[in-house]
Amino acid sequence: MKIVLLGPPGSGKGTYASRLTTILGIPHISTGDIVRDEIKAQTELGKTIKEYSDKGELVPDKIINELLAKRLNNPDCEKGFMLDGFPRTIKQAEALHRISKINLIININVPDEIIITRLSNRIICRKCGTIYNKLTLKPKKDNICDKCSGDLYQREDDKPKVIQERLNVYRKKTEPLIKYYKKKSLLKNVHCNNLMTPPQEIVEKIKSIIDRVQKPK
Ligand code: ADP
Ligand code: ZN
Repeated sequence: MKIVLLGPPGSGKGTYASRLTTILGIPHISTGDIVRDEIKAQTELGKTIKEYSDKGELVPDKIINELLAKRLNNPDCEKGFMLDGFPRTIKQAEALHRISKINLIININVPDEIIITRLSNRIICRKCGTIYNKLTLKPKKDNICDKCSGDLYQREDDKPKVIQERLNVYRKKTEPLIKYYKKKSLLKNVHCNNLMTPPQEIVEKIKSIIDRVQKPK
């Protein structure tokens, strides 16, 4: 199965994707993680990318399309994958269509108030990228990753001023993809209207949609 998770920043895509791909045995491909790895490596490309990412702007399509194409070329993607954070523009969706044939788009719907609360309380592991939340998904020990003992930090783009900008960018550039994929009849909606809904509940919902598409009755 080749699946795309679509949804605003803070909709939980990364959290759900990492759990689902463990169950499904396919790779989780997060362009946000690819971007952060490139920045961490301090390459020339990383420096260019950082200028966009720190401000909450999208990295130019040409750069991100190339990074993604390279990743999808990896043999582990042959039997399927779950994309998180890509595509984010119509141009990216068209590029994806040329590289691979997607079977299913899951669109996660979350109200703005929840997004803002969630993102401003999000912390992530510097070492392994695992996502935590100071309100809803606390680590066992303060500021230390349960999985790898790495330290937890707040992303530059999770500061309040940048969150608003990311939401604006989402509405303007990414939301049009919902219509684009609806027309192709690939889109299924999932809703999360409560901040305290446990991630596992949404994971189950998505899993049952995937099962239905995979083995229609
Ligand atoms: P979010 O929590 O907003 O979904 P991500 O971790 O997916 O954040 O992405 C972080 C940043 O990386 C984005 O704000 C953007 O600058 C860059 N980025 C990630 N994916 C893409 C993409 N598909 N196109 C352009 N920029 C991207
Ligand atoms: Zn970790």
